[in-house]
Amino acid sequence: MPESLKSAGYSPEQITDILVTHVHPDHTGGLTVGGKKVFPNAIVHMDRRELAYWTDKSAEENAPEPTRSFFKTVEPAVGPYIASGSVKTFDGETLLFPGLRSIPGYGHTPGQSYYVLESGGEKIIFWGDIIHVPDIQFYNPNITIKFDVDSSAAAARRKRDFADAAKHRTLVAMPHMYFPRALDEEDGIDDPTGRKAPRPPAQALRRGTWDCGPRRRGLVRPAGGADRTAPECPCRRTRTWRCTTARARHRRLPAASR
Ligand SMILES: [Zn+2]
Repeated sequence: MPESLKSAGYSPEQITDILVTHVHPDHTGGLTVGGKKVFPNAIVHMDRRELAYWTDKSAEENAPEPTRSFFKTVEPAVGPYIASGSVKTFDGETLLFPGLRSIPGYGHTPGQSYYVLESGGEKIIFWGDIIHVPDIQFYNPNITIKFDVDSSAAAARRKRDFADAAKHRTLVAMPHMYFPRALDEEDGIDDPTGRKAPRPPAQALRRGTWDCGPRRRGLVRPAGGADRTAPECPCRRTRTWRCTTARARHRRLPAASR
């Protein structure tokens, strides 16, 4: 991250405020290197619920995996900022700076926040972890991932936020999305090579199964459609799916065997 900043003309010392969506290691891991702050002059902002949860020993003891393991990453990443009084919390929707406010995104983690930036009549919302596997969760927002602290709240929020963004045509940015990627309402997701990928068959998504092509790894259009590969098969990306036959029929695993 310091190298990327440098190429944009900034040094880590110039960063004064960091807005954290949530405290998972892939979202806070860059705050420190070797136990030292990367951004010595920055205030780290987060919802008070987020800081409270990830610094609560009893929450750690009661958490199932993989959440329990994530607690061990909190001190190395955020500890130096907490120790120096450089973590500032807010409570739900809060105007943090002119034109920049937080809104609750609770569910994936107890205090996950989104950030809304508004200027000159334009608006973008920086979502947190609203999605992890865009290949399937855009089409079936009920499918959740084990990283969710509260998976049913996360699914409900995903559905509500997707619907709201679609209704108001809101510009959004989010992690775990292909980059740079766009969702085309008619044709499905652009695949990582830039080709148009077909929309996975909705029925199959509802059933939790669909077929790969005999030779290619990837989804194919339903019978009669053009043989174009879609984004990767879900079994290669998440542990909740598995190829169950040589012809690569994918089946969502029952919760007990995941
Ligand atoms: Zn996360």
